[in-house]
Amino acid sequence: MWDAAAECMAPEARAALQLRGVQALLAWAGERSPMYRERLAGVDPRAVRTLDDFAAAVPLTTKDHLRAAMDRHASALPHLCVPRETLVLGGPSAGTSGRQTYQAFDAQDLDRNTEMLARLYWAAGMRPADVLHLLVTPFTPAADIFRLAAQRVGVRWIVRDNHEPAQVARYVDAARALAPSFLQAGVSTLRAMAQHARTLPAPGARALPYQRAILMGAALGAEAREQFRAEQGIEVATLSGQGSDFNLFSGECDAHDGEHWHGEDMTLVEVIDPATGCAAADGTVGEMVITDFYRRATPHLRWRTEDMVRVHPGACRCGRTTRRFTLLDRVANRVPVGDTAVYPFQVETALSRSEDGRNLEFALVRRAAATPSLEVRLLRPAALADAALTPTAQCLQRHLGGTLDVPVQVTFHDELPRVGYKTLRVLDEPRP
Ligand SMILES: [Zn+2]
Repeated sequence: MWDAAAECMAPEARAALQLRGVQALLAWAGERSPMYRERLAGVDPRAVRTLDDFAAAVPLTTKDHLRAAMDRHASALPHLCVPRETLVLGGPSAGTSGRQTYQAFDAQDLDRNTEMLARLYWAAGMRPADVLHLLVTPFTPAADIFRLAAQRVGVRWIVRDNHEPAQVARYVDAARALAPSFLQAGVSTLRAMAQHARTLPAPGARALPYQRAILMGAALGAEAREQFRAEQGIEVATLSGQGSDFNLFSGECDAHDGEHWHGEDMTLVEVIDPATGCAAADGTVGEMVITDFYRRATPHLRWRTEDMVRVHPGACRCGRTTRRFTLLDRVANRVPVGDTAVYPFQVETALSRSEDGRNLEFALVRRAAATPSLEVRLLRPAALADAALTPTAQCLQRHLGGTLDVPVQVTFHDELPRVGYKTLRVLDEPRP
């Protein structure tokens, strides 16, 4: 345990901490930021006596509210609550969904955010003796904080690189030359690295040198994770979360029973019904809403993430009391099929359960009007012979159709569109 006092805190103690945190943040942000002065007009911080009061009094905020405030105040940081000269880190979000927004950190923000990530790394098995191969988009604040957090865990050597699909051969080359023990990269990146490594001679050694990896950017099926262990000898944990706006992440421990939200003593996470905005019932799926009350520079108050999560019930066998989530999908990734809908995480889970489909990258096609069957495009593995293409596609079509309970059409493709290192899971296309 990196910080047993924080990670194993009793729920009542944590809730008391969260209440004090959101009360303090309401006063802090309402007095200091032009955007929150407007959004919190009429909210009396002294009247917020419970977390339920907080949810009832404070409006939900979206990224579009931030964009509108950027225009109104002619500022890239209308949510800024500290003097500019105290900022130590700031930068753009990844900018994959509309107009660019920005976030910033003062020294205390940076220290606390680093601490939360150190907990996450430790829970995923990172230790001081590890050599980290860190593949992340280099310009984002997250890239700095990942490096600082690994150093806080005690890691001395970090082999850093960018994170681009075209560079996979270089990443594999560096891995085999320098033998880092711990990889951080995207799900699609490790899949591509493993495929590439299989085509190389591996004299007496495993194809990739890592003992552990923490993977991000997409869902990973349980059987797909197991395949990395069996074939590559890599223990994989997943990390998901809110890189671009919050730099807050959840990550798995060795129990693999959901991803721990490691910063519950510094943030408040609500799960709401996206249609009504009301709290989602326990055990159901809902949208994650974040208040990061530890944050002083650009805090977020009841900020909608547009991410659908499932809350895992009960306590984790690792002993941590922090809540665990599975990130299911972006709300926007819903693909209508007939009178129902499918999300990419369901396809990942189903593919993972099939020998032929495990660890294949894929995309779903969404048409302007709902179609009677689901179009699934799979990235063709290099090892799949021409003669095997059609039978494999038919076999996966039957498997997916049976598992997802909708008609499915499967085709193999030599390339699939990407955003950054991620395969685009939903492709919007006109009618066929
Ligand atoms: Zn756990």
